[in-house]
Amino acid sequence: MTGFATVGDAWACTNPSAGRGLSVGLLHAQVLRDLVRRNLFEPAALAGDYDAKTELEVAPFYRSQIVADRARIAEMNALEDGTVVPPSNPIMAKLLVAATYDAEVFRGVLEIAMCVALPQDVIARPYIAAKIAEWDGCSLPPDCSVIDRDRMRSLLSG
Ligand SMILES: Cc1cc2nc3c(=O)[nH]c(=O)nc-3n(C[C@H](O)[C@H](O)[C@H](O)COP(=O)(O)OP(=O)(O)OC[C@H]3O[C@@H](n4cnc5c(N)ncnc54)[C@H](O)[C@@H]3O)c2cc1C
Repeated sequence: MTGFATVGDAWACTNPSAGRGLSVGLLHAQVLRDLVRRNLFEPAALAGDYDAKTELEVAPFYRSQIVADRARIAEMNALEDGTVVPPSNPIMAKLLVAATYDAEVFRGVLEIAMCVALPQDVIARPYIAAKIAEWDGCSLPPDCSVIDRDRMRSLLSG
């Protein structure tokens, strides 16, 4: 469509609890600014390039949040139903544990959270990949952020 460009939440939004909407919106606005600079008087090229660059540079952050949200919803449903909580993505689980022991890995996790880098790019960095590999075959410490209904009840009643 020419003469119209959706930016930020008007293009896509996910889940405010992730705190990524401003980062995604600012990134998207920069993409549009750069293309308007080049193609202001070429409406078809502007629309096509904006769509392509949005898919390439902005959509991956949206998609990675969707994956995380679906996993979290499955986890919440399992906790509510009293069924087995689906296992989390093993690489991401190891990344998060490694981040609690290593400042460089922690910075990588922050880059993912702030939409400065995508998960696949962070975990592919040799240092971070090595830190993740250190947890191969080890049982990971329990995820303290998961509170089942019984624990929640006891916390509330206490
Ligand atoms: C509860 C909640 C908590 C959040 N927490 C965070 C957070 O911690 N960190 C983070 O990064 N993001 C957070 N977000 C997401 C973030 O607020 C949004 O991603 C961001 O504001 C999107 O910016 P935007 O400019 O695209 O849209 P908006 O901020 O929605 O701006 C759109 C503007 O357009 C105006 N408008 C609408 N229709 C018209 C019209 N017809 N004519 C003129 N003006 C119009 C609206 O009034 C609004 O001011 C949160 C969102 C919610 C709902």
